[in-house]
Amino acid sequence: MNQDRNQDQLHPFIFEQSAVRGNCVQLDQSLSTALEHQTLPPALKKAIGEFTAASVLLTATLKMQGKLILQLQSQGALQLLVVECTSGLNIRATAKVSGELHGDHLTAWLKQGQLVITLMPEEGEPYQGIVPLEGDSIASMLENYMLRSQQIDTRLWLASDGERASGLLLQKLPQQQESDLDCWNRVQHLAGTVTDQELLNLDTVTLLQRLFVEEDVRLFSGREVQAFCSCSQTSVTNMLQMLGMAEVRSIIEEQGSVQIQCDFCNKHYVVDEQEALALFDEDDDHEVTH
Ligand SMILES: [Zn+2]
Repeated sequence: MNQDRNQDQLHPFIFEQSAVRGNCVQLDQSLSTALEHQTLPPALKKAIGEFTAASVLLTATLKMQGKLILQLQSQGALQLLVVECTSGLNIRATAKVSGELHGDHLTAWLKQGQLVITLMPEEGEPYQGIVPLEGDSIASMLENYMLRSQQIDTRLWLASDGERASGLLLQKLPQQQESDLDCWNRVQHLAGTVTDQELLNLDTVTLLQRLFVEEDVRLFSGREVQAFCSCSQTSVTNMLQMLGMAEVRSIIEEQGSVQIQCDFCNKHYVVDEQEALALFDEDDDHEVTH
């Protein structure tokens, strides 16, 4: 493990006198903890690492309290990849594979894929954007989405070795006063020279100094990123209520109880017959939460 990295930290920064802001993230323990109960091929862990770094970078640009969920869905060997990041920077991630993943590149595993971006605010309605996959990397898929659906110029540079992940985000804020009009073009170009090795091995201050040596960058203090799975007995019973009484009854008749394994953290939940049927006695008492 490289001691120079700002482990499990997100750092926002801005370019003075411009409408350009950025975030830098480094994930170490948080990423390995999030994936510790899952058996996944190394190339897929790498893709999840990049996606997770992107989710933290994008979440940190939002004003919302709640969570951001990024999903890749496809008919190919990689059927589903899900990463979540809360506004408190708690992450979790998982993936579903059917058969073998051939090759090392994400695009080889996807067929008729789509990218689903869900914002779940703590209060108010969820927002979901679904777009066909465009671009040959995770960064370009998300950049396309941000530009097409959100009309926000966003650039992302992501790197992961499957154990660690790092990322850099630049964003041009619309309708913001700026005196340095060329900043966006300049800093995009400069950031474009970053290598995976630099992203993975340099601490944030060194990285930003190296990339933007002549720019006036203001770096803000770091925020900690942690692995945390939000599953609970309550979320399991909520899910059963959404499945409906007929479905739950048939599972109980077949298996004696309902057993659920969390895809993210592998925690095992058992709801016995009595508990399961009691869920449907109280009708609308239970609110559906996620
Ligand atoms: Zn869980």
